[in-house]
Amino acid sequence: MRDGNRVMIVVLDGLRGDLIGSGVTPNLDAFLSTATHFRKARAVFPTSTRVNAAALSTGAMPAQTGLMSNRLLAPEIEPARPLNTGDPEDLRRIEAARGGRLLDTETLAERAARAGRRVAVVSSASGGTTRLLHPRAAAFGHVRLTLRDWKETAPAGLAAELEERFGSVPAAARPNTGRLRRQTDIWLDAVAATEPHLAILWYGEPDWTLHQDGLAGPRSRAAIRAVDAELGRLLDWQADRDRDERWTVIVASDHGHVAVSEKVDARENLRGAGFPTGFGGILSSFGRYGALALPAERRDLLAPLAEFLAAAPWVAAAFARDAAGPLPGTLPMSLIGCDGPRAPDLMIALHGIRDAWTAGGLSGQGLMDSDTVPVGGSAHGGLLPEELATVLAASGPGFDRGRTSDAPAGVTDIAATAAALLGLARPASERGLLGDLRPHSVQVENHAVPGRPGRRLRMRRYGAQVYVDGIYEAGEE
Ligand SMILES: [Zn+2]
Repeated sequence: MRDGNRVMIVVLDGLRGDLIGSGVTPNLDAFLSTATHFRKARAVFPTSTRVNAAALSTGAMPAQTGLMSNRLLAPEIEPARPLNTGDPEDLRRIEAARGGRLLDTETLAERAARAGRRVAVVSSASGGTTRLLHPRAAAFGHVRLTLRDWKETAPAGLAAELEERFGSVPAAARPNTGRLRRQTDIWLDAVAATEPHLAILWYGEPDWTLHQDGLAGPRSRAAIRAVDAELGRLLDWQADRDRDERWTVIVASDHGHVAVSEKVDARENLRGAGFPTGFGGILSSFGRYGALALPAERRDLLAPLAEFLAAAPWVAAAFARDAAGPLPGTLPMSLIGCDGPRAPDLMIALHGIRDAWTAGGLSGQGLMDSDTVPVGGSAHGGLLPEELATVLAASGPGFDRGRTSDAPAGVTDIAATAAALLGLARPASERGLLGDLRPHSVQVENHAVPGRPGRRLRMRRYGAQVYVDGIYEAGEE
């Protein structure tokens, strides 16, 4: 009876795939013994939270969602600065300018809602990330709340009700243990009673602490333990409920992390090379990646800018819109799934080194353009395999217990999988189905990065789907 199927998607923000089994995630490790574990799961590029939240919530690549950077370059809406997709106020401006639609692809939550299924989103991520998971929750009378941006809670009145019952939201801390615990409390003791068919629980840790404390930091380790403990509470609850309901639990992360070795000021570098930045000049957003849009009257800058980025030592690889034709120094943006109608002119991944190890024995470090993330902290957004590697495992009807799969998979597969379990029709833009383990052959493609001897971008193709595997240097596997 398909109507009886229920799906819970649990996201542990920023949990690197290779942290599994290292002793810090006992509940996740135990979950894997009941689940099918996709060990080669990948985020989409840029490996930033909101880009991947949109990919997860729709099952589509950034080219189709229209959200391909955490700070959106949309000069037709706001020419003076990129719009911050973490800020619900900026998201409302995007929605208003796009006819009420935040994303170009319908979300799983909205499709479920239209089919009469109840959806609930309980989160401790940013208000923006949370909104992307169910942009129209309020219109359907569904619960959508984040402890990080309480005033964004839907439906109206729920925040006050919860505050009366549970007390005020615990102050932010690193690790954010109190908030994580409150998040689970709210699910278990309030929201679960609304009996949603689809529940999305997005935990903002360990990402929140990793950024400041780094991969080997003691507080980061505590954050991973704390979020794993919350997963344990959810799984205990679900095991109890499973006698009456058919639950599938999908545990995922949205990206990995690498150590920040050095800061770079990308705009300063652009200005130093004579390129105009800021209002009327190149509109840009940087982190461990970059998105750059040229003003309409300065298309002449495209080729010299591409040439500059292709040679800059702080850049790992540069991508240009396919419509720009083969642009020297760049790879086509369609390769990384970003060449949509809203794509910026150029995208880059910042330089990183895989063969660099933290005190915690984890590989990967890279350059970072940020005012807030320190050297010694960790970050994501780029194309190192350690940033792309995510946690992905599913347990429930249709998934073998204790199975591991090395088939290509990723955040874009989650929506289709949940849709099938909920008996929803699949739109054409949606990607794969995790339970579909037919033995397609895996094709590996290596694309040489122009001007960077030995460096290649590796893609893994599985059936009709393509996954960005990462950037590798000569001799690296
Ligand atoms: Zn994240």
